[in-house]
Formats: sequence, C-alpha cells, structure tokens
Amino acid sequence: MRLTFHGACRTVTGSCFLLEVNGSKVLVDCGMFQGSKTEKELNYRAFPFRPKDIDALVLTHSHIDHSGLIPKLTRDGFDGPVYSTQAAADLCSIMLPDSGFIQEMEVDQLNRRNARRGKESVEPIYTAEDATACLTQFRPVAYGQWFTVGKGLRAKFWDAGHLLGSASVEVEASRADKSGRPTRLFFSGDIGPKFKLLQGDPEGPQGVDHLVCEATYGDTERPDVLPETRRGLLKAEILDAASRRGALIIPSFAVERTQELLVDIHGLIESGDIPPCPIFIDSPLATKASAVFARHAGEMTAGDALVRAMNFRTVRFTESVEQSKSIGRMSGFHIVISASGMCEAGRIRHHLKNWLWRQEATVLMVGFQAQGTLGRILLDGARKVRIMGEEIDVRARIRSLDVYSGHADGPELASWIEKRKPIAGRVFLVHGEQEAIDGLAGRLSSTLDKGSILFPSLDECFELDANDASTVAAPQPARLKPEHLGRVDWHNDLSRLLLDIDDAVRKEGDEKGRSRLIRKIRRAIENGRED
Ligand SMILES: [Zn+2]
Repeated sequence: MRLTFHGACRTVTGSCFLLEVNGSKVLVDCGMFQGSKTEKELNYRAFPFRPKDIDALVLTHSHIDHSGLIPKLTRDGFDGPVYSTQAAADLCSIMLPDSGFIQEMEVDQLNRRNARRGKESVEPIYTAEDATACLTQFRPVAYGQWFTVGKGLRAKFWDAGHLLGSASVEVEASRADKSGRPTRLFFSGDIGPKFKLLQGDPEGPQGVDHLVCEATYGDTERPDVLPETRRGLLKAEILDAASRRGALIIPSFAVERTQELLVDIHGLIESGDIPPCPIFIDSPLATKASAVFARHAGEMTAGDALVRAMNFRTVRFTESVEQSKSIGRMSGFHIVISASGMCEAGRIRHHLKNWLWRQEATVLMVGFQAQGTLGRILLDGARKVRIMGEEIDVRARIRSLDVYSGHADGPELASWIEKRKPIAGRVFLVHGEQEAIDGLAGRLSSTLDKGSILFPSLDECFELDANDASTVAAPQPARLKPEHLGRVDWHNDLSRLLLDIDDAVRKEGDEKGRSRLIRKIRRAIENGRED
C-alpha cells in the first residue's frame, strides 16, 4: 500500500493524497493551492499523476483547498466517481463553478496586462464550464455507510463538525490474497472545534493503523469560547464600529462563516444588544450557499435560527453588480459581509478599496488569513496596500475576532487524535504551516512515540504496512522544496519594497533629494545585477 502526499504538506492548502492499493488508485481530496504565488503556480502545472489512471476520488468537504482542482482533474481525463456527502455535493455544485468563474476573471485581467506588455496570454486553470462538467461525477453517500472505492477497498464518512457536509474518511483495505486483517487508514479532513455554531462535535472510529491528520491550528490554544462569550465579543466589535459611523466591512468565507455571522448578528438584534442596521451579504456565492444551508437546515444545530436571520427585514442579499456598487455609495453605519475571506478575490476588494483609506471604517477579520494573502498583510499592520493596481492608504481600523474558527485548536486536535487510539502505525501531520505542525507534534510527544509522528513533504511517497511506514522514491521529483511552502514569497517582498521606496522618495524634502535617492536606488539595482 502506497500513500503519496500531493498537497497540504507544511502548508494549509492543496489537500490531495493518493492511495495506491491492490492495483487501485484512489485520491482523497483534490484541492487548490491558495497561499503565496509560488504555491498557486502549482495549480497551473500538470498533476504529478495521470488523471486517467485515478479510479475514484473521495472528497472530505467542499472547501476549495480540498475540492478546487476536481474540475481540472476531470478535464484532464479523470472519469471516475467523486464520493462525498450530499451536502458537500450540493455545496460543490455552486462553489466549483464559482471557482472556475474566478479563474477566468483573474486570467482575463492578467491577459489584458500581458497584452499591453507584449507578453503571451495564459489559460485559466479551468473554466466555469469545466467545473459544471465535473458535477455529474458526484456520488453522494450518507455518513456511517461503507462504500466501495476500489478493489478490496472501502470507505466510510464520519462527521468532522467543520462545515456543512464535512467528513473524515475511514478507508479499509483488504489484502489482495484476503489473508490477515485489513489495514485501516483514517483521514481527518478538516476537524471542527467544540461549540461550533452550526455543527456538532467531530466523530471518528477507535483504533486505526495510520492516521492522516490536519494541523492548521496545532500551535494555537484558544480559550473555550462559549456561545454567550462569542456573541459578547461580536457585540463589542459592532458597537465600536457603529460609534465611528462608517461601514463595518467583514471579509468572510461565503460558505458557513457568512451564515454563522448572520445568525449571531441577527441574534444580537433580536435580543436588543445592538440596534437594527442595514446588513448586506454582498457575494453571489454567499447568497447561493445560504440557499443550500436553508435546504439542509434540519441537519444543523441552529438551522432554524439561520432561516429566521436570512428572512430578517434589514438583511439584504445583493445579486447584481449594480446593487453591489450602490452599497459603496452608502454612508453611515452599515455592515457588509463579503467574500473572499482572505481578501484575495471577489467583491470584498472593491469594498476594501472604497473604505480602507477612511478613518471611520472598520475591517473585521473573522477567519484564518494565510501567509501572503491581502488579509494577512492587513492584519500584520501594513500602512499601504495595493488593490487592483492602485495604492491605498490604510486608515481604517483593522480588527480581528478569532471566535468563528471552523478548526479545532491544538488541544482539541490532540484530544481528537487521542480518541483514535490505539494507533498501530504512523500519524502523518498535514494541512498546517511548519510552526503549527511542530506545535501539534509537541503536544503529541507525551502520549505517542516520537518516531511514529511524520511530517510528509510535498510529493513524498510512503510504503505502508499495518504498523509501519517508510519513505520510498516517488515516481517524480517533488514539485517544490519544503522551504518554499507556507511562506511569504518574493512577490510579497517586492510589493512591500515598492511601497517602501515610494514612502522614502516622498519623505525627501525637495526635488533634489528625491532625485538623489532615486539615483542611489538605481545604482544599487545595477550593482546587484553585477553581483
Ligand atoms: Zn476546510
């Protein structure tokens, strides 16, 4: 049995694991890389395996960093089934075409710029049409039900409590000669925290041979956030933003986070803790996702509260670009919840461009911001940022509220792993930046033998037997070295340098000083080239 890690290795995106057993090739997740440009570039390259050779794909959940390359996989020749829960399939039916649309738009903008510079045009990773095409391959399966994914290979979904329809996957492989007991693998997918607003606690089997576990927040210890505490913190942020009389801009994942915020904001209005105010959900994806959530309301805790909030009189789901633009002309206090959650794409960039330079505005981050994203750059205190080619001063208050995490924190991950014991073989830590992985490994060291914890690197391949795993040479060299993953890359350094140069030149008292500084910088570049 072979397991190759084709993504989410020392970084939080691009989840994709290839399991080869009894002649079957099965993928667990096929996610998009979303971090720095160096990582995102991987999305454009060929897969490190032949899509045609893949027999089936088992999908843990609909988040793009787990599902986002399925359309490309299909376009490049994969024609097998995609197994997921019904809710995950429903969410993919809106999220994947949306992702295709974003790829097309981004490439369109890039090509216009390339044309002006006489550069060659590029193709999108996939189109909305490619995404729609792959949806016919989805085969929904209920939680707790075994399904066959290959020869002598079956799988079962367990509720991961991370997102509507999210699952951990148990995989059981019998030996080709049917001798001995089968080998059991368990893939965590993404694990939800305790007290999650719309989801229950994560579940899983006891006793596995090998465990592949996410480590997104492995180095983080959050105090338990009870629902009252969470609403109290949100109330304080909203009242503070309201007192400044500007907009409260909330970059938010369209799926689940937006619906959670809506439930809490509406709850605060209902209880009289905050006054009713205009609330705009300005994201076509969030609008569609909310409809899917309403359809699955019965499967969620607080599902009915969500339906009530969606129908509240000051809540508006905008659709057209005109409606979105008209929000931009509003003054006075109002709340705009818009995507994407890390400010990398979507309508949120227009709202940020519109409000970041104004003191009366507040930007409230409510989700994980990966290294290198605009959201992270703002959180790290940048005074200027570039949005759509324009330089914007940051005068708005940048706040962050870490109480809506969809992820378990370090202690919760450790206790989730504890519940899977006995673990006969190895624990592979994935889906986390290096610090997070080290943090989780540290927590596990008191209860697990140190040698049993492994940190796979990108495209690393392991030969597994019931209680051991050894690295074997992968058929292809790794696409990126570990040091290039989960890091700020040179693109971020360059944009920071350009802003610093601009600052320094402007600070010079007169024309002469400015010219002198520009000459010095030019000389430094020329000397640099000769080095
Ligand atoms: Zn996720």
